[in-house]
Amino acid sequence: MNPSFLAPKKYKPATEIVHMDCVNSGGESVSDPYNSSSVPIYQTATFKQTSSAGGGQYDYTRSGNPTRSALELHIAKIMHAERAYSVTSGMSALDVILRLVSSGEEIVAGNDLYGGTNRLLTYLSNFSNIKTHNVDTTDVAAVEAKLDPVKTKAVLLETPTNPKIKIADIKAIAEICSVKCPNALIIVDNTMMSPYLQKTLDLGAHIEYHSGTKYLSGHHDLMAGVIGVKTKELGDKIYHVINATGCGLSPFDSWLLLRGVKTLSVRMDKQQANAIQVANFLVENGFEVHYPGLKTHPQYDIHKKLASGPGAVLSFETGDIGLSERIVESTKLWAISVSFGCVNSLISMPCRMSHASIPESVRAERNLKEDLIRLCVGIEDPEDLIQDLADALTFAGFEVKTKSE
Ligand SMILES: *Cc1c(COP(=O)(O)O)cnc(C)c1O
Repeated sequence: MNPSFLAPKKYKPATEIVHMDCVNSGGESVSDPYNSSSVPIYQTATFKQTSSAGGGQYDYTRSGNPTRSALELHIAKIMHAERAYSVTSGMSALDVILRLVSSGEEIVAGNDLYGGTNRLLTYLSNFSNIKTHNVDTTDVAAVEAKLDPVKTKAVLLETPTNPKIKIADIKAIAEICSVKCPNALIIVDNTMMSPYLQKTLDLGAHIEYHSGTKYLSGHHDLMAGVIGVKTKELGDKIYHVINATGCGLSPFDSWLLLRGVKTLSVRMDKQQANAIQVANFLVENGFEVHYPGLKTHPQYDIHKKLASGPGAVLSFETGDIGLSERIVESTKLWAISVSFGCVNSLISMPCRMSHASIPESVRAERNLKEDLIRLCVGIEDPEDLIQDLADALTFAGFEVKTKSE
């Protein structure tokens, strides 16, 4: 019997991430005719047709391209999505998704959102009459209180949030929403965890999206966004917007992202193992550390139910803005940079950089501490990373108690 007639076998996540299926859910081959081991880059805008009526599998790259299809098929499998789509950035992914919300409808979202997400929601509120209620999504009752059976069209969640690393119980919120607002969409920005650690479509989300610029790519050498959906109907709507607006990912970037994704599990395993050691070092030195891998995290148990690991982004407070500035500017290995998910370790002060677009008064209201330092842990040797932090702390005038893990 031809093995391709057997039901698809489920492998463990690390295997699924490297191994590509070459047939899509419609039974069409997405491999190239020469069985290349690496999917070729179909760097072409148009595809010749054999009939005057067209009808070939591909005709124009805005509408579809084999390299992009291969990427989307692979991403859909990793996300446990019915369909997946790739676009030019994470923000573009959210823009596509939010076009499913109409003027007069409302969104319920977190109050510790990615800065760019905040900017887009504010734009929709100012120009499209789509209002967002920002609530503390760690509090399921607070989310429930804002749900309006008529007006609420979407619940937009990030978990863990960035930079405060708070956890939203996707499952509990999805259950309440399905009772109170059965027509509302649960949308999750899963960038921080990646599909390797958290599969939100299995937890009740209808749509999951990522900034592919972060862990999926892993190397900070491209910008991309990916969207996974629970049903074919939602997929058709998302595809329609992508084709109508022309934001599909280019063939070259699709190829680059596919190349990056294949090492997602090894990168994430190493980055997470390093992050646990870094978090312990900071705790031993008395800092207030926000990381769901620590038993002291207020939602440690909830996160454990949602995801298979704590990831590699953490933040900590020093209690002194000047001290934080000196620490950030004194590290040698940790690069001062926005973003995360890269193989290199990064350090930043979110209120000065990634979250500077949120007005100071709003930051204060949301208890976003100005002295907060965010660490995005890379794949370097953990001893070097901890030593570099210890040196920076010492240089900044802090007395380091321990340098051990
Ligand atoms: C980076 C990021 C985005 C935006 O993605 P881009 O690829 O930069 O457009 C959205 N959400 C989160 C959580 C992010 O970290």
